[in-house]
Amino acid sequence: MKIMVAIKRVVDYAVKIRVKPDKTGVETQNVKMSMNPFCEIALEEALRIKESGLASEVVAVSMGTAQCVDTLRTGLAMGADRGIHVEATGALYPLSVAKLLKALVEVEKPGLLILGKQAIDDDCNQTGQMVAGLLGWPQGTFASKVVLDKENQVATVDREVDGGLETLSLDLPAVITTDLRLNQPRYATLPNIMKAKSKAIKKFTPQELNVEIKSDLEVVQVTEPPKRKAGVVVSSVDELLDKLKNEAHVI
Ligand code: AMP
Repeated sequence: MKIMVAIKRVVDYAVKIRVKPDKTGVETQNVKMSMNPFCEIALEEALRIKESGLASEVVAVSMGTAQCVDTLRTGLAMGADRGIHVEATGALYPLSVAKLLKALVEVEKPGLLILGKQAIDDDCNQTGQMVAGLLGWPQGTFASKVVLDKENQVATVDREVDGGLETLSLDLPAVITTDLRLNQPRYATLPNIMKAKSKAIKKFTPQELNVEIKSDLEVVQVTEPPKRKAGVVVSSVDELLDKLKNEAHVI
């Protein structure tokens, strides 16, 4: 079985985000970019499944500008067997990514498609659900544990829901999106970084996959959150209670 993993290039989680002066988005020029953390978890899970003998190949895919190849190289250095880059220069919203993924699934025919539960740049949390809908595949979102039964072609997924854990049984092929506690992604070792340089990355354009990149969404404006007011130090519990009651009106 082949596993396809979608990895997105995003502004590194440790970077302090700056809004562009014209308020059209956030600054990405001269900013450290990395693989979306939930996608690292997705790739790690695919690699562990392969290492346990339940999959034969892990294919990492990324959509976006030419620099996505760097993110794919990181994925290859972690252990993915090959990469696919769909080059697109404009804004890519979840429905476009989901359509591109569906087209790639039709080419590659994986038994499992793993995505992050959300990208930390747009926080959409939509792509996995959309691609599952487009493919008509079962979906296990926010997975915190994945167990594969190759013989019966079933994946058992524990998912973190508000009330606790829900366990789903999915017939393969299926879509899984990963939550934070699923695993701890590995670091790429130096020999694997060297090896990754010779692994193949296939390129597609959206046109070659018959996907028209368009969106019904328009970003009107991006602004910084209001600055937090400075706190005050209270001198006694009574003063704190008084402020909570009469100023904050929360008790
Ligand atoms: P989102 O729905 O935008 O929060 O993204 C959820 C997941 O979809 C990400 O963690 C990725 O696995 C996948 N994804 C979204 N955009 C892209 C992209 N441009 N390239 C590759 N994967 C993507």
